[in-house]
Amino acid sequence: MIDAEVCIIGAGPAGVSASITLSKNNVKHLIVDSAVFPRNKPCGDIMPTGVIRELNDLDPDIMTSLYEKGLVNPIWHTITYPPNGNPINIDYLPFNNQAGVPGCFSVSRYEFDEVLIQKIQKSEFATLRQGCRITAIENKSEGVHLQAEDGTQILAKMIIVATGSNNSVLKILGLEQPKSDCAIGIRAHFEGIDVESHKTELFLQKDLMPGGFYITPLPNKKFNVNLVVSLEKVKTENLNLREIFDSFIESNKVLKQKFSNATRIGNYEGSMLFLGIHKKVIAGDRFMIIGDSAGLIEIMSGNGIPQAFMSGKYAARKAIEALAKNDFSKAELQDYEESLFKKIGKSYSAGSFFYPALHKKWFSGSILNFLNYLSKRPQTNDLLRDLLYQKNPLKLLLNPGFFYKLFIK
Ligand SMILES: Cc1cc2nc3c(=O)[nH]c(=O)nc-3n(C[C@H](O)[C@H](O)[C@H](O)COP(=O)(O)OP(=O)(O)OC[C@H]3O[C@@H](n4cnc5c(N)ncnc54)[C@H](O)[C@@H]3O)c2cc1C
Repeated sequence: MIDAEVCIIGAGPAGVSASITLSKNNVKHLIVDSAVFPRNKPCGDIMPTGVIRELNDLDPDIMTSLYEKGLVNPIWHTITYPPNGNPINIDYLPFNNQAGVPGCFSVSRYEFDEVLIQKIQKSEFATLRQGCRITAIENKSEGVHLQAEDGTQILAKMIIVATGSNNSVLKILGLEQPKSDCAIGIRAHFEGIDVESHKTELFLQKDLMPGGFYITPLPNKKFNVNLVVSLEKVKTENLNLREIFDSFIESNKVLKQKFSNATRIGNYEGSMLFLGIHKKVIAGDRFMIIGDSAGLIEIMSGNGIPQAFMSGKYAARKAIEALAKNDFSKAELQDYEESLFKKIGKSYSAGSFFYPALHKKWFSGSILNFLNYLSKRPQTNDLLRDLLYQKNPLKLLLNPGFFYKLFIK
């Protein structure tokens, strides 16, 4: 039986963020992951501004190390193709408005997560156990008893759940993510796509809504290509995403041209996305839930890494307070839930409004017609960028002045 003050389950960005924060405060802890790193994680491989901010706060050496190893590719622009095939170009803002400093970058998750793992391996306060899948959790008077597939047994004063977008551990806690708040994505890596190296591209089509087809240029002339669609749509229409992935490239004129000399490297890999649509219970007696497991992926962008880092940091800070008080009750840990939602809750209001609405054909059709129209008005591109950078997009979308500028001015 391994005794631990805190046990973090999952060593993706959320778990690593919690681990680094605990180490910075000299708190010994255990972090376990079912995978052995480096491991594959289906993702769009885009690190938006929020990730750079969180990494700088967590440990600036991580960004330096990514740059020194040549693992990052700056992203300066994004192009959205609505169904009419006309591009809408949006320029990203530089980081903290410093000219020449990119506010977004791409990096393969295989390498990014490995750099994060190496960071925690260097800490004298963190013990990492890989290949350790937690299969049972029991809350007892002396602590939380964890059992892993490989026979490992752990007794922890509290646990931080960072197991990503899958329900296995959440199910044990009785806190599964509802299917209505999920999307499903598949991604593959390619070479030879005709896409510029500092631009991401997004393709939208009526019969894929709510969802989209994304291309991210990576370092070394490789590309991440991923298709994300609402789980509800996939289930009700019995869609096969693998087939749609290929047929979309074939049927979309712009894509067909871009992929004419492309070769796929490796396999297609799939994963769920636990979206931030409804607030959930993410703290209870002796546990806190962080990252995707807490359902924090933004629906507008599909980004979840910034929130994974942020929630890991908040939970670790709360864990330190709980250890000092020797109080691991729900009443004590509840603070984590409140402070996190206070910080990111506004994006939930957009999610809870838009996600169900986007399942209505008339609504998603109107959005696409609207984008078709805007693609012919490039003077509105900066307004669309404002929307992208809004903490509370719904507020801007409910402002008639915004639409006046978009349609008329
Ligand atoms: C197709 C796709 C595209 C995406 N694109 C982007 C993007 O471009 N930018 C962005 O910001 N976000 C993107 N996301 C979301 C992003 O991948 C997640 O938000 C991010 O990985 C969350 O980090 P995490 O640490 O919470 O979970 P994860 O990174 O999933 O890590 C969870 C870890 O827990 C481990 N684990 C799971 N179960 C157990 C268990 N029972 N016992 C022990 N360990 C366990 C896993 O092995 C894994 O290492 C995308 C997601 C998908 C699916």
